[in-house]
Amino acid sequence: PHSVVVVGAGQAGLETAAALRGRGYEGRITLVGDEPSGPCDRPPLSKGYLAGTVPAADIALRPPSFYAAQDIELLAGDRVTSVDRERRTVLLESGLRLPYGALVLATGCRPRTLPVPGAALTGVLTLRGLADAEDLRLRLSGPPRSVVVVGAGFIGLEVAATARGLGHEVTVVEAQPRALARALTPQMSDRVVAEHRAQGVRVLLGREVSALYSDAEGRVQVMELGDGERIAADLVVVGVGVLPNTGVALGADLVVGDGIVVDERLRTEDPDIYAVGDAARFPSPHAGRHIRLESVQNATDQARCVAAGICGEPYPYAAVPWFWSEQYAMRLQMAGLTAAHDETVTVGDPDEGRFSVLCFRGGRLIGVESMNRPADHGIARRLLTNGTQLTPATAREPGFDLKKLPR
Ligand code: FAD
Repeated sequence: PHSVVVVGAGQAGLETAAALRGRGYEGRITLVGDEPSGPCDRPPLSKGYLAGTVPAADIALRPPSFYAAQDIELLAGDRVTSVDRERRTVLLESGLRLPYGALVLATGCRPRTLPVPGAALTGVLTLRGLADAEDLRLRLSGPPRSVVVVGAGFIGLEVAATARGLGHEVTVVEAQPRALARALTPQMSDRVVAEHRAQGVRVLLGREVSALYSDAEGRVQVMELGDGERIAADLVVVGVGVLPNTGVALGADLVVGDGIVVDERLRTEDPDIYAVGDAARFPSPHAGRHIRLESVQNATDQARCVAAGICGEPYPYAAVPWFWSEQYAMRLQMAGLTAAHDETVTVGDPDEGRFSVLCFRGGRLIGVESMNRPADHGIARRLLTNGTQLTPATAREPGFDLKKLPR
């Protein structure tokens, strides 16, 4: 195609543009993103950037000079409002109309909000972009306050750990009976929660927020739970999951479910329109069904797959999913998808905070969750990529060590 327009200048959008140039694509590339900051690295926004250890300058995914050097036109602070599939053009909020040969939807997700009275009060925040993180960082930089995090997912727990590290009184409220229920095995999530409690965070599981109340100036002050308990809340951070940005796809009459539905080459039913990253709902050989994944790895590997497809060298997307999180001194690393496991084997020492949970389904290794065992994670990714067989019986043998497996 003579030109590629990428909608959304986040991780997936940027990596698509970069991978196209990396493959020698010589046509016009335009990257349209509605965040004025340009493509930024989101993981530090709940970790080092929030804690003040990662400077703002390190948040940009590429230095400003990259775009000119790679001849990638970055339109930051503008948004695509509609797609005309017949004329193959997109319309921008600024009034600009751009022709495309191939269109890549990399629109990401937006945070869910709380469906309770008071959810829009001053001091009730969500975290997705750099602007959100700047606001939160400023509020956390003052004297100790009562911070309540709603949702014990990765972002909520990372914010809780960072806020606690800055000396705030932190409470985490989670409606599910356990933390990270969608993402981790109980063995791993229980250990994570134990660490939060040891650090002085109050973690309330199986408890729901029913309302938020303000002071006379309209600032949030008190949170009420479903059972009537009231807790002080000078600052509320809501981390209750995200919703895929599917408006542009929907407007273009493309199939949308929980995400923009694509095939194994990440194409929508319009062969010139692709979707990548957090917003894409794709057939995963690892899950055996269509899923959406929210991770840097998925955004990056899907971007490469789509760039290959646009350059006429398509391959099916089958990368092994992996993910990480950092909370206090815990480095969590996950390889594969573990949710469907029917058997686990733990190696290492959970009490010491250095262990891995090997997850099997039908006697086959499907994923490994590690805490402070980076070598296990590296090996797990290789085993899953190569399809190397490892049975629960082998993993249970005395002295078993992933590092000693034949390479
Ligand atoms: P995004 O990066 O969200 O980019 C999408 C962009 O498109 C956004 O800028 C959006 O505003 C823009 N957009 C949407 N619609 C339009 C439109 N119509 N026109 C123009 N622009 C539009 N992942 C990990 O693997 N490890 C981590 O530790 C980790 N930590 C995280 C911490 C935080 C605080 C957050 C928010 C995310 C974290 N993630 C982490 C997830 C990771 O950042 C995402 O999976 C990744 O950014 C997805 O990339 P994406 O391009 O699909 O979406």
